[in-house]
Order: sequence, then structure tokens, then C-alpha cells
Amino acid sequence: MNNKTIILTGDRPTGPLHLGHYVGSLRQRAILQHDYQQFILVADLQGLTDNGSTPQKIRDNIPEVLADYLAAGIDPSLTTICLQSALPALAELTTLYMNIVTVARVERNPTVKNEIAQKGFARSLPVGFLVYPISQAADITAFKAEVVPVGDDQLPMIEQTNEIVHKMNSLLPAPVLSHCKALLSETSRLPGIDGNAKMSKSLGNTLLLSASEEAIHHAVSTMYTDPNHLKVSDPGKIDGNMVFTYLDAFHPDKAKVAEMKAHYQRGGLGDRACKNELEMCLQELIAPMRERRATYIQDKGMLMAMLKKGSEQAHEITQQTLREVKQGLGLPVF
Ligand code: ATP
Ligand code: MG
Repeated sequence: MNNKTIILTGDRPTGPLHLGHYVGSLRQRAILQHDYQQFILVADLQGLTDNGSTPQKIRDNIPEVLADYLAAGIDPSLTTICLQSALPALAELTTLYMNIVTVARVERNPTVKNEIAQKGFARSLPVGFLVYPISQAADITAFKAEVVPVGDDQLPMIEQTNEIVHKMNSLLPAPVLSHCKALLSETSRLPGIDGNAKMSKSLGNTLLLSASEEAIHHAVSTMYTDPNHLKVSDPGKIDGNMVFTYLDAFHPDKAKVAEMKAHYQRGGLGDRACKNELEMCLQELIAPMRERRATYIQDKGMLMAMLKKGSEQAHEITQQTLREVKQGLGLPVF
């Protein structure tokens, strides 16, 4: 074991990964893996919390997400990629943590509240879904992660995790669990291509890392701009203009984007020209990922073997944390 700071992040295998994942977290992970000890968890159990009746959806998407990781530059020799359901310590810690979190507290989590409303669960809300932030706290703490690179929808999860860490540590003779902090990227919430506040698999408003040339073209050409910018010569608005939101998130030349914004605002720059610039940059970003991914996804055996190996490494680490918590609580450890 080295003493590098530990990172844990994860993704639900509910569909292939998209540009929101890329700018919100994945791009940072590919950089951070060189300086931190990084774990990435394929959160299949969390994926099941709102897909309990369609487990094949979760199963089928595991290799899809793995192929996306590799395509986005995650290197399995630097990052340990593991599977949530292969790590029983995570489920056991969840059970222990559930006793120190109140129902009122889980019901107050704003991200979960929002997701419950969006999914229209009402009385059919699965228990597992309501408590998934507790299971996420188990994931993070089992690895003793201190840094969690995530989108801003995850801030309430980190806050709740730290409350659990504080409470659990106070019950133990000496602290076992580490506090963690979220690491937000510059684009901590990428809106969907439909203009919705968040690009999300569940909302069907994504542009995938594996998007075809045509899909990229279609997404950009139907993108919402300033509805009052009718003539090229009209001054246009940047605020809420999706094309500029995306140029900010993806264009490598910030000075050029600043110049385009100024030109658009004073009039004389058309939507078509802005969209062409955006499409060019997205085509350039996605094409190499799409190509690499197409190769990886053909070898699902290799992808699953990589996941098995990572899960075996993670098993030892997470069991150790569980042992320490149980011992601290005075439970017999056989
Ligand atoms: P689902 O709809 O199934 O919840 P999702 O698209 O929200 O899927 P997750 O697997 O829940 O994706 O999220 C994985 C990680 O990616 C989290 O850290 C999350 O904050 C980040 N992320 C997801 N969507 C975005 C987005 N639009 N902008 C920034 N970060 C995002
Ligand atoms: Mg999500």
C-alpha cells in the first residue's frame, strides 16, 4: 500500500456514458489517476434501486460502461475498476449505517427528492431507492476515500456521507472512517441537449461518448439558442443559450469562445456559424473515443476479466474497513 490520497467515484450502469459524465467527472478522473490512488465503482446495486424489475438492463450496461471508461482514458493499470455487487462489505456497511440515519434525513436529501418527483414514484417508491445515499456513503467510506470527483447533483450525497462518518466515528473507540470532499469540475452540471438542467441517462437527453457523426450533427442543429436572435445582425443573448454553454464546456480555445460571445452579443454573428464551430469541436472530441470504444466493446470477456481483477483487489480493502468498524462497535469478528 502506498500513501497516496484515495479517490472513489462511480457510475450507475443504467446506460452508456455521455458528455455530462465526461465533463462532470470522467475527464478529471483520467488526469487524477496519475497522482492519486483511484477506485472506480460500477454501481450496479445502486442502478437496481430504480430498475428492480429490469435487472437485465443493469447487467447489459456493465460492459458498456467499462468500454466507455477505457475509451475516455481510464487506465486499469492506474485505476482499480470494481463492481459494487462483488463487494459484500459495502452491503454490510450499508446495513450498519442505516441504523444511524433517520427516515426524516433521507427524505430531506434534495437530489433524491428531485429524482423521486422526476420518476413519478409516489407510493411505488422502492425502499432501496430512498436509502441509496446511505449505500453510497458505504461505498465511499469502505475505500477510505477523501476525494470524490462528481457532478453537483452529488453534493448532498457527500454531505450526508460526512454526517455518517462523524456519527459512526463517534461511536467507535478511535475514528475508522475518513471524511471526504467533492471535487467539482468547471462544468459541474452539463444541461441536456434538450435544454433541461441536467444531461441524464434517465431523461433521454444525452449525447453519448459513442455518438455517431449524424447524432452529433442532429443534436447540435436542434440545439436551443436565443429565440429573439432572428437576424444575424441582431444582438444575441449568451445566458441560457445552449450553444454557448456547450462551447464553454468543450471548446479547447477559451479566447476564441470569448471573442465569439462578444461578437454574438453585439450582433453580426449567426447561430449557424456558432453551431458549426460547436459541431466541429464535438466531432473532434468524440470521434477518437467512439473508435476506441468500438474496439473495446467487441471483447466483453476482456472487459469483465478486468472488472473481476479490480473487484478482487477492492475486496481486501473494503473487508478491512468493515472489520475495523465491526471491531470498533464491539461486534464479534470471526
Ligand atoms: P441516471 O440517470 O441513471 O442517474 P446519470 O446520467 O445521472 O444516470 P450517474 O451514473 O447517476 O449518471 O452519474 C455518474 C457521475 O456522473 C456522477 O458523479 C454525476 O454527478 C456525474 N454526472 C452525471 N450527469 C452529469 C451532468 N449532466 N453534468 C455533470 N456531471 C454529471
Ligand atoms: Mg444520476
